[in-house]
Amino acid sequence: MPTDIASFKIAIIGAGPAGLMAAQVLSNAGYAPMVFDAKPSAGRKFLQAGRGGLNLTHSEDFSIFSRRYFEAQTFLKPALENFTPTDIRLWAEELGFETFVGSSGKVYPLDKKAAPLLRTWLQQLKAKNTTFKMKHHWLGFSKDIWQFQTPNGEESYSFNAVILALGGASWPHLGSTGSWTKILENKGLHIAPLKPANMGFTITWSTLFKEKFSGTPLKNVALSFTDAKGNYHSKLGELLVSAYGVEGSLIYTHSKLLREKVEQESFTTIYLDLFPHRSESKLEQQLSLPRGKKSLSAFWKRLGLSGIKASLLREILGTEALKDSALVAKTLKKFPLVLESYRPIEDAISTAGGLKFNNLNENLMLKNFPMVFCVGEMLDWEAPTGGYLLTAVMGQGKQAAEGLIKVLQSKGKR
Ligand SMILES: Cc1cc2nc3c(=O)[nH]c(=O)nc-3n(C[C@H](O)[C@H](O)[C@H](O)COP(=O)(O)OP(=O)(O)OC[C@H]3O[C@@H](n4cnc5c(N)ncnc54)[C@H](O)[C@@H]3O)c2cc1C
Repeated sequence: MPTDIASFKIAIIGAGPAGLMAAQVLSNAGYAPMVFDAKPSAGRKFLQAGRGGLNLTHSEDFSIFSRRYFEAQTFLKPALENFTPTDIRLWAEELGFETFVGSSGKVYPLDKKAAPLLRTWLQQLKAKNTTFKMKHHWLGFSKDIWQFQTPNGEESYSFNAVILALGGASWPHLGSTGSWTKILENKGLHIAPLKPANMGFTITWSTLFKEKFSGTPLKNVALSFTDAKGNYHSKLGELLVSAYGVEGSLIYTHSKLLREKVEQESFTTIYLDLFPHRSESKLEQQLSLPRGKKSLSAFWKRLGLSGIKASLLREILGTEALKDSALVAKTLKKFPLVLESYRPIEDAISTAGGLKFNNLNENLMLKNFPMVFCVGEMLDWEAPTGGYLLTAVMGQGKQAAEGLIKVLQSKGKR
């Protein structure tokens, strides 16, 4: 056994935010972790996250924040309490990147970018004795031997401890392919099937509608549906019409419940209130006003019914029905959208399913493989977009690294 802590061989496999946070905690404590990754550079998904505005966390009250993780909230509690939304903001600020709260309560670095932050983070890690071994694709382990596919062929290493931070299986070209599921399953570990989370849903639009409105946001609408357990949900927000169906924040918020409903019934119907700030009776009254010589479109336009909302009506109502004020008002308030299926995991923002918590102890160490820890999106939890993902994966990286240090200390190896 090494006599000084910097000589401990600690591997972190996966250079995403979960693995990098583990490396930060270990290197700050004087260890010299080695970070392995299959890709030529670190944090590719983190960089991608920055392309749409790097949403680090959310500013809502912590009691609400921690409920965003559905059934996993109890298991994730230690990670989230030990790395709160305030802590992730402090972390960014310590790296030199001030954060701000956007109008929706989401928290971003001032420039909303990931690249400068990642660059600084990696520089600091390297300066503190973290080494990086890129293009090392982890193949498996047998007893104490860990195998990697490298540009020089297969290489084997042995370590005193390993933290696996291999991610989920969305956007696989960025590195997380889910190939680890087979390796860990073959070791007798329990894995919940990987599924898409924060993904779009398929709707058959007419060719005309698709051509005209694909890529168009539907703003200021309320989405409602009944979930697989019979609970009713309704939320105001924005979604995006795409060529294949719908996506966007209002859909992602409910993607878990909608996925479960589609799995239960093979399709599901959700409803949009296209005028959430006008009652059905008010709409009906406005639609019943005499329109004189105006065309129906021009008359509707005066009432604020035009563009994508008017075209949605034309998707489901025939020419005569469109003149029926009561029916139009009713349809505008409860517009049905039939979700036929959900998009594949490759296209999803994140992954549901993964390594089940019952494989792990309170330090996120595998019960059957001492000194092997698992963190991040590879574990069996999910959350909506809104900064919940990054906060939780980094919190788990911190929890496992601190747990590892505790185990080493308790063994008297310091
Ligand atoms: C388009 C997009 C936008 C997003 N925006 C946000 C956002 O704004 N806010 C937010 O909170 N979250 C966002 N996310 C989600 C967030 O990026 C992920 O939840 C987070 O990166 C997961 O971190 P991780 O470290 O667990 O896994 P990853 O970041 O996926 O890292 C896993 C690493 O493991 C490596 N790896 C996998 N298998 C092997 C192997 N066998 N051998 C060696 N290396 C391997 C991969 O190459 C990868 O580098 C976004 C995701 C996407 C796709």
